[in-house]
Order: sequence, then structure tokens, then C-alpha cells
Amino acid sequence: MYQALYRSFRPEVFDELLGQEHIEKILKNQIATGTTGHAYVFCGTRGTGKTTTARLLAKALNCTSDGERPCGQCEACRARAAGTFIDVQEIDAASFTGVDNIRQLREEVNYPPVTGRNKVYIIDEAHMLTNAAFNALLKTLEEPPSYAVFFLLTPLPEALLPTIRSRCVTLRFPPQGEQEVKRELENSGAAADKAELIASLSFGSVGHALEINRDAEYLKTYDAALSAFRLLESKNDIPRAAAALLPLRDKCAQVLEILEAAAGELMRGESRAPLASALNARGIDGARLMKAVVKASRMRNAHVAGHYVLETLLFDLFDIYDS
Ligand SMILES: [Zn+2]
Repeated sequence: MYQALYRSFRPEVFDELLGQEHIEKILKNQIATGTTGHAYVFCGTRGTGKTTTARLLAKALNCTSDGERPCGQCEACRARAAGTFIDVQEIDAASFTGVDNIRQLREEVNYPPVTGRNKVYIIDEAHMLTNAAFNALLKTLEEPPSYAVFFLLTPLPEALLPTIRSRCVTLRFPPQGEQEVKRELENSGAAADKAELIASLSFGSVGHALEINRDAEYLKTYDAALSAFRLLESKNDIPRAAAALLPLRDKCAQVLEILEAAAGELMRGESRAPLASALNARGIDGARLMKAVVKASRMRNAHVAGHYVLETLLFDLFDIYDS
């Protein structure tokens, strides 16, 4: 039903999608050929435009105009502009892991859209869903109502159930804008090497980079984490590394963010920043590190103590050498 609607998207819909020309090309091609799907996996690290793209498509999908969409005039477009639109739901999977929540979603999806043409579900951090939640979601993806469209956003598509992924169109969002971020930082007075390091931690987001630059503690946390991971020549060093990470137990979220950036770098086959380089020299694989970080984030969300989260992560890294 919505496939025909895609063909009349306003070209400006993609204007906000800076630097992701290949995604624009793929989506426009799908629109033109009517091969769009009911469910998408958008994979890429933070700041690569996954959420922006999902929101842009949701806007156009919901417009009820017969002409180019989104028209900005119809009830659905006006409700969205006013923030009163309810046919698009954004769900953070990190706080939505229970199968009961997915059951609610499965019941709710059966009610047709109120003002828009489609019901759109944007599930951010989709890799954080539990297997039970994935299995419940799978039942909806197997027989979705004609008006339902799902976007699953994640840096780690491998963590989604294969049966889920096989029902989705997967689009990869490569990181972009690190050079641009570096230039912005240099313009705001940062030295070249500092700007390069912060850019590597920015997930391609100038806003996030400027935040790091303002936070005097952030790079101290980075240096402390780097020193701890440099101790890890073998798994016999885990206790020493864990002891070195102990003072960072209250900065657990920051450490995990720093490691997520390093994992992203390694997954792209790069290791320019000191931490990614140190991890690479120790044979640590990017995807394995990302999985360890995802598990650690789940533990953190379940209020496990910071020092135990970080210690478990160290052990998970060394499973690589055992397998
Ligand atoms: Zn409209």
C-alpha cells in the first residue's frame, strides 16, 4: 500500500541527510521501483544519520496528501509539526527489554493509524532487546499489518536475531564527518592532535565533540582507560588491568562510550587513535569488543556495580583468545 506513496516523496525529504549520498541513492531507487520494505535495519555508530533518516521517512510516510509528501499542510503533517502526532513511536530498546512491552506493542500495532497513513515504529539501540523480546517482535514482523513500518537502529546488526534480520532491509550508515568535526574543533582553538583524538571519539557529531572538549575530565578518563588496557598483554594481566580501571568505576558510562568509539574504529579497519591502536596491537577484534561493550551496557542498565561491569568486560575480551 505505502509503496506507491514513496514514489511521490518530495526530493527535499533527503536534504537533512548530509553526507550519506549512498543511502539517499538506495532509498530513492527503492522508492522509484516500489521495492521498499515493512521493516528496516539501519546500522551504524552514533551520529551517522540513522534516526534522522527514520524520522524523515516517517514524516513522508504519514502525510495524507495526494501530491508530494510530506506536504506540511495536511492534518498529519500539522500534528507532527505541533508534536501531537501519535502514529510514530520512538522506542529506546535499552529501557524496553521486557517481553511484556513487546506484547503491548504487538497489541497496539493492530489498531490502525489515527491521523497518518502509516504506523511507524522507530526502535533505537535495537541490539539491547532480549531474545524473548526479539521472538515476540518476530511474530509481528512475520505478519505485519499493511500500514506498519519498523525501523530497527543499531551499531551492531550481528546482535539481532538472524530471523529478524532476514525480514528486514538492511542499510549501512558509514561514519562521516570526522574530518569536518576536527576542523570545527581546530576553529574553536583546539590543537591539531587533541582535535584529532576528540574527533575519533565524537561519533561524527560536532555537538558531541564540543561537549568532550568542554569536559576537562573526559580525556583524563580516556588516558586512564588507555593505561589500563595497555597493561593487558595476556589474560594473566586482567587483575592488574581491573585494578587500574577501579578508580573509573563511577565513570563507567564514559569508559563504555570510549570503548564503543574504539570498537567502531577497529570495525572499520582503522586504529589511528591511541586506544584503538593499543587494542589492535593486542589482537582484540572490533566486533568482539562491541559485543562486550553491549553486554556491559546491559549490565550497567541493570544497575550492576561499575567495577564489576568493567571487570566482566575484560574477561569477555579474553574469551577471544580461548575460542
Ligand atoms: Zn501532509
